[in-house]
Amino acid sequence: MAAIELKTREEIELVRESAIIVSKTLGMLAAEIKPGITSLKLDQLAETFIRDHEAKPGFLGLYNFPNTLCVSPNAQVVHGIPNKIPLCEGDVISIDCGALKNGFYGDHAYTFAVGDITPEVKKLLEVTKASLYKGIETFRAENRLGDMGYAIQSFCENEGYGVVRELVGHGLGRMMHEGPEVPNYGKRGKGKKFQDGMVLAIEPMINGGTHRIKQLKDGWTILTADGKASAHFEHNVALVDGKPELLSTFQYVYAALGIKSDEELPFRKEPLLI
Ligand code: MG
Ligand code: MG
Repeated sequence: MAAIELKTREEIELVRESAIIVSKTLGMLAAEIKPGITSLKLDQLAETFIRDHEAKPGFLGLYNFPNTLCVSPNAQVVHGIPNKIPLCEGDVISIDCGALKNGFYGDHAYTFAVGDITPEVKKLLEVTKASLYKGIETFRAENRLGDMGYAIQSFCENEGYGVVRELVGHGLGRMMHEGPEVPNYGKRGKGKKFQDGMVLAIEPMINGGTHRIKQLKDGWTILTADGKASAHFEHNVALVDGKPELLSTFQYVYAALGIKSDEELPFRKEPLLI
């Protein structure tokens, strides 16, 4: 992984601009996700939307990935390739999206329910998202990477879930993947100390059962080894004056879905964006 690049206040604002384009893209998709629509259609909508915002899809062509979105239903963890299979009632679908504007990337993800889902899977989504904020809470100048990993891991394992080891969060900026690697597991007090100017993509990938994964022959798709569902939520966060500041937002998704949430308020200086 590339070096850690500490960002100036101006550079952080440029990451925010790209992250918010992704946030709006996820919000647009939230209104489209229903039984019958295909992930390829969602991908096309996202590409058009991002280009209409004078940005480029961040994943398209990156490491030769063929699409704008990674779309990973049910037992797929991440890196699923959009296809023509219609979504079904009861599916869950993790959508990860990147955008590049002014030379800086945004990169975030949300796991959506397609219609009604089982209480078991609903809980997996809720716990995974809550673990993302547990991780963000630890992103403070006095802490280290291991504190963040420990917070996410202990919270999810306490519910009996599996924390994926092979895939991790990362630094974000002029490159989609900068240092440091940001594992969703770790030991308190270990690892690199957080510093002002760090911008991280924090992204718990949590399985309903075992933490073990396998990969499809397409060379991309990661899925759970036991076939149980997986969830993935990702935010982009800067360390400013020793404290975490959210650059991305789920507020556009929540507006589309009619969800009320104040989960982001502790990590924002400004009031709600929309
Ligand atoms: Mg991502
Ligand atoms: Mg990422």
